Amino acid sequence: MTMNETGGEATFADLGLRPELLQVLSALGYEEPTPIQREAIPPLVEGRDLLGQAATGTGKTAAFALPVLQRMAGPGAAGPVTLVLVPTRELAIQVSEAFHRYGREMGARVLPIYGGAPIGRQLQALKRGVDVVVATPGRALDHIGRGTLDLESLRTVVLDEADEMLDMGFADDIEAILASTPEDRQTVLFSATLPPRIDGIARRHLNDPVRIEMGHKAAEGGQTTPLVEQSAYLVARAHKPAALGRLLDIEAPAAAIVFCRTRDEVDQLTETMNGRGHRAEALHGGMDQEQRDRVMSRVRGGTADLLIATDVAARGLDIEQLTHVVNYNVPSAPEAYVHRIGRVGRAGREGVALTLAEPREHRMLKAIERVTGQRISVERLPTVADLQARRMELTRAALEECLLQDDLGPFHVVVESLTDEFDLMEVALAAVKLAHESSGAALDEQEIPEVAPRTVDKGRGRREAGPGRERAARAPAGGMARLFFSLGRSAGIRPQDLVGAIAGESSLSGRDIGAIEIADRFSLVEVPQDAADEVIAALRRTTIKGRRPTVRRERDMRERR
Ligand code: AMP
Repeated sequence: MTMNETGGEATFADLGLRPELLQVLSALGYEEPTPIQREAIPPLVEGRDLLGQAATGTGKTAAFALPVLQRMAGPGAAGPVTLVLVPTRELAIQVSEAFHRYGREMGARVLPIYGGAPIGRQLQALKRGVDVVVATPGRALDHIGRGTLDLESLRTVVLDEADEMLDMGFADDIEAILASTPEDRQTVLFSATLPPRIDGIARRHLNDPVRIEMGHKAAEGGQTTPLVEQSAYLVARAHKPAALGRLLDIEAPAAAIVFCRTRDEVDQLTETMNGRGHRAEALHGGMDQEQRDRVMSRVRGGTADLLIATDVAARGLDIEQLTHVVNYNVPSAPEAYVHRIGRVGRAGREGVALTLAEPREHRMLKAIERVTGQRISVERLPTVADLQARRMELTRAALEECLLQDDLGPFHVVVESLTDEFDLMEVALAAVKLAHESSGAALDEQEIPEVAPRTVDKGRGRREAGPGRERAARAPAGGMARLFFSLGRSAGIRPQDLVGAIAGESSLSGRDIGAIEIADRFSLVEVPQDAADEVIAALRRTTIKGRRPTVRRERDMRERR
């Protein structure tokens, strides 16, 4: 089954979720299930096993969290009923937070368990009783070994981002954990990619699973119009409003629609953009018909130049003047992207589609490219200098237009009286400055930090230093720092031990880690420059293969460059 084939308009209520969950989803401003949720929730509620291909951004977390909560008998059971295994601490926290959010009306007790956090607090929480445990494999095994994580009452095991867990060398840990869970459990596996190793796990541990794959089908001819110019920008969540403002300033669209995920996001962003001097209007499913009509007439009449909307509210709208579609987040499925960008570039007019993506969502852009068969070029966000240059250009264009209008007569007297005292060039410069500033172009802008995608291209892969390799000759890859670990081959260290420790203890994921070199008595690992200090601090608190390593930046790096 592919997402293309269903694509119905099922609501969360149609998926058979309990009132407490529906209430929370509506309070969160979720208007409708994403495609993966439409497909995954009903079989998971029935108790089926599932193998799902889903990247971050598709709504996969709710796709497994909601059915787990739906099936929960209510708090008070003996041990945890659900175990979610995730590759990193960062994801453990995110997934726990999602369970908390969705399960708050039901009083669901959720506990994240990951290395690096004090084990005492985890032990206390486990003793008090929890319903859902979200854990990294290493720490989960630790607790199982100590007898502090009892898996007898488990009903569901979820392997989230399974491909990443395998990449990080957790295959054996996962096998060991699954072996300690009840045979009749429900098993759910989500993975951004489905390489043969994932199929192997699915064959061994999933029982007649429902399979959900992202549509690989190319869009039917002409669905996306070739006249839409498509680009994407990688930006951290905190900088998204500034990034949107910057892009709109540069693009200066006649009218644009900005798509958000939830009602709350629409409301907040509308307020922010109005605060930045845009004329933005919100449109979402929480508004009645009269309110929506009012908004649409302001957009059509040109009193608003920015429509900020959810997919549901914007469905079926046809707005003549639209030149730009902005995806404030990567849409939850390629099909949604196709529908959104179909709003511009109609009737032979050119359109522009801009997508803001968080680094983790980079993969989703690739999935969209596969489905549309069109390229989305990932661009650098405009800098303050770009913006200033563009504003100068706009001022120049405005002056040129004014010169061509030939109605400057009344101003002669001003210029003439000034030229008694000043040079003509100086007078012109002062006039340009005034025009430039009065266009609001003197705003104090700050640079938006650049971020790299959270995927490492395989070519840069990891390698061990062979006996003949002259490691000192090589500088770290751009943007990377090389860390020294005082443990090497003689301590039995393998690349996966280092990857597992770093990803388990810090916010990095396996894919963020660059080349690894293992020598007899020490190892060198490349990590992103801006995460180096965090990794050092985290790794100093931990042990690898039972030993506490010295970790520091490689000392002679600077001389070598
Ligand atoms: P995920 O792919 O699970 O990382 O989710 C991506 C984001 O989408 C998260 O911020 C969720 O809160 C949000 N989200 C998930 N499902 C929905 C939905 N049905 N409607 C709106 N937002 C959603």
